[in-house]
Amino acid sequence: MANQIETASTWIDASRRVVALTGAGISTESGIPDFRGPQGLWTKNPKAEKLSDIRHYMADPEVRRLAWQQRVAHPAWHARPNAGHLALASLEQSGKLHALVTQNIDGLHQAAGNSPDKVVEVHGTIHEVVCMRCQWRGPMQATLDRVRAGEEDPECRACGGILKSATISFGQPLIPEVIDRALRAAQEADLLLAIGTSLNVYPVAGAVPLAKAAGARVIILNAQPTALDDLADALLRGSIGEVLPQLVKRKPTRNISRA
Ligand SMILES: [Zn+2]
Repeated sequence: MANQIETASTWIDASRRVVALTGAGISTESGIPDFRGPQGLWTKNPKAEKLSDIRHYMADPEVRRLAWQQRVAHPAWHARPNAGHLALASLEQSGKLHALVTQNIDGLHQAAGNSPDKVVEVHGTIHEVVCMRCQWRGPMQATLDRVRAGEEDPECRACGGILKSATISFGQPLIPEVIDRALRAAQEADLLLAIGTSLNVYPVAGAVPLAKAAGARVIILNAQPTALDDLADALLRGSIGEVLPQLVKRKPTRNISRA
């Protein structure tokens, strides 16, 4: 494994256009639960999944009230970027990061210092709200303040429509322009780095075969086997917060001196 990390690290050193693709695994190390994974909240409790299904959300005010309570209590508000997030920020500082495609909605990449124009959020963001009728968008915290002040299901102040976090719920289509941008970036990569994702959710997982077909090297870093391990030039297991800083040769935050 140490050898593989060293080899993968030299590839990153030699590359100029890295596309990183991140999934829930990098956020769980910051204390944000993986809702969809094998141990996920929704997998273990199908009733909880109902809260994130757009059909129930639009039809049932009780579902919306519960969803707003969950948003008020969401772990993203207190989560901090971990060493894995910081490693990707340092990859951008080195000028090698072409795009950072993420399935996460928590904004931790931006919090770590990645610039918003490098981050492609294919499942949207919990940091904004959107009106389901007039498409008005605004900051989440201002709407959460209304919930805390007693509005159980705050409505759009422009049109009276239903508000929702600007995330992609079950039953909601992905945004074609965002997906196009992610897949185009993958085709332009000379190295694709898939981190903390099981790579079985399409079309985003398709970034990996697209990059490979365009000649990019593929590094997969995930705790469990992924659906696309066969395509990997290097397959790395282990903690993202431990492995990723070694890959990008980011100095550890703690000063480890060796005699
Ligand atoms: Zn509206």
